[in-house]
Amino acid sequence: MSSPAEAAGLKYNTVEEIPSINASLRQAFLTGKTRDLEYRKNQLKQLAFLITDNENAFCDALAKDLGRSKFESMFAEMMLTVNEAVDAVESLNKWAKKESVHGGLAWGFHNPHVRREPKGTVLILGAWNYPLTVQLGPVVGAMAAGNCICLKPSELSAHCAKLISELAPKYLDPETFRVVNGAIPESTALLDCRWEHIFYTGNGIVGRIVAEKAAKWLCPTSLELGGKSPTWVDETADLTIAARRILWGKQLNVGQTCIAPDYILCTSKVQGELVKKLKQVADEFWPSGQEGNKDQSKIVTENHWKRVRGMLEGTAGKIALGGPPDEKSQSSKAFPVTIITDVKGDDSIMTGEIFGPILPIVTVKDVDEGIEFINARDQPLVLYVFSDHANYIFDRTRSGAAVSGDTLLHNAVGTLPFGGTGPSGYGSYHGKWGFDEFSHKRAVLEAPAKGVLGAIVEWLMKGRYPPYNLKELAT
Ligand code: NAD
Repeated sequence: MSSPAEAAGLKYNTVEEIPSINASLRQAFLTGKTRDLEYRKNQLKQLAFLITDNENAFCDALAKDLGRSKFESMFAEMMLTVNEAVDAVESLNKWAKKESVHGGLAWGFHNPHVRREPKGTVLILGAWNYPLTVQLGPVVGAMAAGNCICLKPSELSAHCAKLISELAPKYLDPETFRVVNGAIPESTALLDCRWEHIFYTGNGIVGRIVAEKAAKWLCPTSLELGGKSPTWVDETADLTIAARRILWGKQLNVGQTCIAPDYILCTSKVQGELVKKLKQVADEFWPSGQEGNKDQSKIVTENHWKRVRGMLEGTAGKIALGGPPDEKSQSSKAFPVTIITDVKGDDSIMTGEIFGPILPIVTVKDVDEGIEFINARDQPLVLYVFSDHANYIFDRTRSGAAVSGDTLLHNAVGTLPFGGTGPSGYGSYHGKWGFDEFSHKRAVLEAPAKGVLGAIVEWLMKGRYPPYNLKELAT
């Protein structure tokens, strides 16, 4: 069994060359070229062209890496990332404008304001599950903010990594944007370098390694992690719509989505009705069954396929739809969407993020027990609620995002911040939020220091100078 990189013919950078890549990007930043807004807009347009000009090549790479259908590749990857880049071009002047702040009467002559400035040279470490959205998506914010960028794509989505690294020098300025390919040794060498921001997308174990390495340089980090995102459904919801939207959110990329509904929480009464609806929806989605369905993506590697299948073997829940694929599906990495009912909170499937097409249903007594269940676990990346009482639940829980009445769609609203809280990560991006994440907010004060105005301000503020007189503080 060859590795994804070997299968794709992806060449890794050498560990030895990594410090010099970092140094050349740092040098390029000091030339000041990325500070120019027109330069940034041009690079962002080029990033959009890199994707649109090579749509078929990206669809092909995504099909090889993840068995993606063209529809999912266009809808969940290319459209989102291109829109993000185009929006950044259109909004950049507004985002980068100096922001005056009101300091009160005392500061009327000082023009206090905030300049959003590039942090410098940034590292973006991407994950394999959405090789465009989670790898080139953060590049948009970093580029708009005027940074020099080093992107390290995931070695598991190797066809996409290879394509991105081949296209980048043709479309983007190689002085200010570099792609480094590799696995753990190369990522480690990158993390040993000095950056002004590290943006990591992936699992929490590596997230902690990233944060520790960054601490050596006091380098700020954004950690876009995962977790178990719960979905509460109650009897006040339209169960047909809820079932359709939950199943859609779970089957996209066969559940390998950080914001996929990880599990359903409901009362046992709702479970019975909801499972009926979920089965009806499954018939709507896959009229000829799931086997051989060309729309359905595949699990990324055989090791992940075995991991997800192992989760099914360990659970004590009852299979209501799908079921473990047979051994011969291992090489095709096909995995049916599988619903499991009557799952207990301490079931093995409830211990870690599923990140695959299994949807357990856990039953609780009522909404308050549901809230207790959520609060007893790590803060998730998103909480989904199908109920007339969504705000009652939102007011009593924590999560990166909160969505009522649908799944996944908050990710498509470019004006909402995207990010986690607690163990699901910190920092956020998309649109202006990404621009801000990669910008330093530089406080500026322009005190009049000469001429008539200088003299007036000097007189007004003379009380600060020694010898101190407490009476001056009272005036
Ligand atoms: P992955 O294996 O592709 O790893 C991510 C990156 O970390 C890669 O570039 C990899 O080379 C690097 N890496 C791996 N091990 C490393 C190590 N020991 N030291 C340094 N670098 C290392 O991706 P993954 O972790 O399998 O991604 C899946 C996880 O990512 C899931 O938990 C998912 O929920 C999460 N995710 C989160 C978001 C989000 O936006 N919050 C988006 C996508 C995925």
